[in-house]
Amino acid sequence: MSEGGRLVIVSNRVAVPRKNSPAAGGLAVGVLGALREHGGVWFGWSGELTERDGGAPDIKTRGNIDYATIPLNENDFEKYYNGYSNRVLWPVCHYLLGFIQYNDAEFEGYKRVNAHFARKLASLLKPDDLIWVHDYHLIPLASELRQAGINNRIGFFLHVPFPAYQAFRAAPGHEHLLRCLCAYDVLGFHTPGDLAAFESCIREPIIGGELLPDNRVKVPGGELVADVFPIGVDVDELRQTAAIAVHSRQVRRTAESLKNKHLIIGVDRLDYSKGLMQRMLAYERLLEKYPNSQRLVTLMQIAPPTRTGVRAYDEIRRGLEQASGHINGRFAESDWVPIRYLNKGIAHDPLMGIFRFAAIGLVTPVRDGMNLVAKEFVAAQDPDDPGVLVLSSLAGAATELTDAIIVNPHDRDDVADGLATAINMPLKERQERHRAMIAILKRNDITAWRSRFVAALKGHHH
Ligand code: UDP
Repeated sequence: MSEGGRLVIVSNRVAVPRKNSPAAGGLAVGVLGALREHGGVWFGWSGELTERDGGAPDIKTRGNIDYATIPLNENDFEKYYNGYSNRVLWPVCHYLLGFIQYNDAEFEGYKRVNAHFARKLASLLKPDDLIWVHDYHLIPLASELRQAGINNRIGFFLHVPFPAYQAFRAAPGHEHLLRCLCAYDVLGFHTPGDLAAFESCIREPIIGGELLPDNRVKVPGGELVADVFPIGVDVDELRQTAAIAVHSRQVRRTAESLKNKHLIIGVDRLDYSKGLMQRMLAYERLLEKYPNSQRLVTLMQIAPPTRTGVRAYDEIRRGLEQASGHINGRFAESDWVPIRYLNKGIAHDPLMGIFRFAAIGLVTPVRDGMNLVAKEFVAAQDPDDPGVLVLSSLAGAATELTDAIIVNPHDRDDVADGLATAINMPLKERQERHRAMIAILKRNDITAWRSRFVAALKGHHH
């Protein structure tokens, strides 16, 4: 174990390793690397729903990591997770205020689950543990831990965008959440824009905070550090995985079925923040405005359903099925279909193989904290013959991947023109843009992300 005590990671879900479990995603890769280095605990919900609250956390030890999980009461979980987290915080953080659906009981459930997490976690903590809390589900956790007498250093990383005060104030409960954020020692955001938005909130009279040098912020009761830590990917690992997977049977068969068409690939959870409807309409615009692109391209949209049971998510699914059906009906020929719409996910490794032979990665969220798909697409390319990334200016990744073709997802013509540019881009320009983006991805990779955050967490003294 290195100096500075154990690292204790807290997130809504814990990825307990199991035989044959799918490859870990961005958050899990970063968190596991940090845990292996320091030794420590990953604490969170087990995924089980119970009638009662349950006893002590269940602990499974693998090497120097303890996976500590608790079940949650079914009623509390519904209010905390589907309720306040995903019907209020998710839309407000993505500036999609029209999707907010609030009620008091759900906010109470959110606070109750955070208090419950704090009680169960407190029993596991040692005085020199560093605590790193993840994401919008757990904003009140530090404040709850402080009330339970925990004085350890506690950091929080937000994986979604942080809204400017003029948006955040639309969310009932925002005053409470801003006060809760002041209980942390370190706050991390993906982009300078998110940090600036947080600062706009903290300067409001309800907090009356003051910005100090070195990313320090004076808040009632103390000081904290708020800084930018863009999450990254493991560039070499992704390139190697993609280079192998591109020769797998599944990927070869997909390539053969496309018969030399330029593949445009989109991969997103079925979420209204991902701009999927706007993307379909922009693709239709490409086919109208550039008739030569017909028969030359195929859009494959992979869209695994998520948060089923939240009404907005069921509606978007119906809308997309209609739009893709309409566009296919309008343009398809007996030997060509413009859109392949898959309402399911694809495993990580074959996905990297598909990225590698795709000509264009189309990533057009109307708002996204980072968007790892954009980074993975770039990392998966063959440097000698790379595909082109068409990226929304409203994704966090656009602040780093400035050599992508940056488009406004709300502007159909802009996206269609961007696609046309990508289709016709000469090899040399593709190589240059790719090289520039890889350099940035390597500098801000997943190891840099977690090392910088842990260093900030260690370096802060009360
Ligand atoms: N992903 C996957 N298979 C799918 C869809 C997504 O493996 O069918 C992975 C994708 O490779 C990425 C993550 O899920 O690592 C999605 O992260 P992103 O930041 O793009 O979006 P989020 O879903 O977190 O909003």
